[in-house]
Amino acid sequence: MSAETTDILVIGAGAYGLSAAWWMGERATGARIMVLDAGDFGANGTGSCGAGVRMQWGLELSIGLMTESIAFFEDAARRLDYPDGIEFKQEGYLMLARDADMLADFQANVDRQNALGVPSRILSADEALKIVPELNPDLLVGATFCPKDGTVSPFLWLDALLRAVGRAGAEVRFGTTVTGLEQKGATIVAQTTKGPVEAAKVLVCTDWAAPRLLAPMGIELPIEAMPNEAMVSEPWRPTFGPCLVRIEHGLFINQLPRGSIVAVVTRELPKSESTANHADWLPLGAGLFVETLPALAHLNIVRNWSHPVSITSDMQPILGEMAVPGLFLAVSAYKGFMTSPVVGRIMADVVIDGRSDHPALAAFTLDRFATGELIPEPMVI
Ligand SMILES: Cc1cc2nc3c(=O)[nH]c(=O)nc-3n(C[C@H](O)[C@H](O)[C@H](O)COP(=O)(O)OP(=O)(O)OC[C@H]3O[C@@H](n4cnc5c(N)ncnc54)[C@H](O)[C@@H]3O)c2cc1C
Repeated sequence: MSAETTDILVIGAGAYGLSAAWWMGERATGARIMVLDAGDFGANGTGSCGAGVRMQWGLELSIGLMTESIAFFEDAARRLDYPDGIEFKQEGYLMLARDADMLADFQANVDRQNALGVPSRILSADEALKIVPELNPDLLVGATFCPKDGTVSPFLWLDALLRAVGRAGAEVRFGTTVTGLEQKGATIVAQTTKGPVEAAKVLVCTDWAAPRLLAPMGIELPIEAMPNEAMVSEPWRPTFGPCLVRIEHGLFINQLPRGSIVAVVTRELPKSESTANHADWLPLGAGLFVETLPALAHLNIVRNWSHPVSITSDMQPILGEMAVPGLFLAVSAYKGFMTSPVVGRIMADVVIDGRSDHPALAAFTLDRFATGELIPEPMVI
């Protein structure tokens, strides 16, 4: 079967793949761009995520990256010509400190964030309780708050990107699995369930599924899949604006604009690509929810779900060109929703120009796992 051809092939139509394809289209180089996805629209990590976007991180690199991303989310309706917007609920994040040591660590983060222009601040327990009176007062000695943090609708973000990518002339095909990649002279041939596609450049954005595509090309990726779990309640009257985080439990709580409340608990689980729910998660998640917001204990849970996320040993992304010329990779290591605007831009630059000046590209290399120059971020949940 003769191969279809394109100039740039993006594999994966989640937040990373679609964002990169959009930025490539924005460059208006005339290159033909094709995006292939094994699944359906939104049936991926992006569509399953907690949708949190925050500047409150510990490392300067993370703070800078998220600050850029949030600036893009703020302007996404205009940038992507998506007039009704992506439901950016920018009502802040409250990071709850359970004791004085944690608050002291948070203070150091806030100092770093403030130095980079992030308007985060330390709150006393009373000040935090004024913002969210439903919080259990016994759980906190204080908190940090950044009013620019918030949540974005994953479905609207993907929809806005998909439409903008289409307008830019790129072709997006769902239901097409790439089963293998082969180098053929100066090009790469992707074997797919709908026939081969040959491209000069291939960008792999398949998150935790990347190792199986790259391993046959001799590229071992230190990426594993680990389930992450969430639940959503029935809708309730608008009660609290900010997202709530109890970092020691990996707990994230957010009330959606239509009233339902989402809770995510990130915990160490056996590595797996399964989307099956774990029997012990619901009591854990519901228990932490009720402990955090006892006044909302009457709310019923509508559903819970589990979806794999990509894991690396420092929980930071892997970005850049691989040892095979023309082959590029962008894998998030968990916080891929919030990093997608800026990672898309970086990857578009690298794929088109072969370079980007962004510090994230120099930092988040595959090589760091061989050299041991890991970049662990203290504020991952
Ligand atoms: C419960 C939960 C809560 C989360 N909360 C947050 C949060 O608050 N903030 C945050 O930033 N992140 C969060 N995340 C993580 C975030 O969802 C991911 O990091 C992000 O969505 C990854 O985006 P992606 O585009 O790389 O991957 P995906 O969105 O998973 O897209 C990858 C795509 O690749 C396709 N694909 C895979 N293999 C192939 C193949 N062989 N051929 C063709 N296509 C293929 C898949 O079908 C999929 O559509 C959360 C995740 C979960 C599960």
